[in-house]
Amino acid sequence: MTTERRRSANFPLPLERVSTAKPRGPGETLRPQRPVREAVRDAHSRAGPSGVGLDSAHVRARMVQRLHAQGVRHEKLLHALHAVPRHLFIDTAFAAQAYEDTSLPIGHGQTISKPSVVARMIALLLEGSAARARNGLGKVLEIGTGCGYQCALLAQVGDSVVSVERIRALFDKARAHLAPMRLDRVRLVHGDGLRGHAPNAPYHSIIAAAVADEPAAAWLEQLALGGRLITPVRKGALQMLAVVDREPSGYKRVDLEEVHFVPLKSGVD
Ligand code: SAH
Repeated sequence: MTTERRRSANFPLPLERVSTAKPRGPGETLRPQRPVREAVRDAHSRAGPSGVGLDSAHVRARMVQRLHAQGVRHEKLLHALHAVPRHLFIDTAFAAQAYEDTSLPIGHGQTISKPSVVARMIALLLEGSAARARNGLGKVLEIGTGCGYQCALLAQVGDSVVSVERIRALFDKARAHLAPMRLDRVRLVHGDGLRGHAPNAPYHSIIAAAVADEPAAAWLEQLALGGRLITPVRKGALQMLAVVDREPSGYKRVDLEEVHFVPLKSGVD
């Protein structure tokens, strides 16, 4: 059975407002044309002098700076990484590691992907032609909601997000994690992501957080013209990050670097 849940209220709304250091004008938080360097400096200054706890905005700002240093250059994405408190998406036992570049257990044999991989995948999506034309991800389909962290980031960088999770307990967990954000353009679906989610198709951006042999046929069908799909795929004993663009002449796939993801499974739990 497929269960859907819609939250209603404002969007996008960061879970934590950390910009208390100085007053901000309306719309200033987004300012799409602002130089990235300025965005990163701002993210750092917003942390405030007292943020020294492991789960603080200060530690998160350092994570954003590291990702920037590693080449993440999209301003909206950097803002999203700063706005979403990763420590609130994982068990308190792992909170101390929340802003390290590591994947962590989220229960049920699954893991939250490491921030550098999440940032890399979203950055690649932002470089798809439909996303570039929109200065954002447009309509997004995420396969594998897990704890909801990546979904929260996608919601900041896209117009709307449909996220599908096959494990009921994780679907519930993600719903609880995302509830404080009160996102009216995020739809969480408990179902088999191998089928995508046809009711909201086509999508400008599709991202899978679990590895398959090939991109699922439903994802390709549900990808908009000009849209981009990012998914880990098996290649022999390895896993590679595959990027598929839907162009007027057909689908174009490029396999990039090696990655490590949990397996995509069929059916629901
Ligand atoms: N993006 C997630 C990472 C989750 S790990 C996060 O930020 O936490 C991958 C997730 O994919 C797991 O939760 C797993 O249950 C889910 N998954 C695997 N196969 C799936 C399928 N066919 N449909 C939907 N979700 C699936």
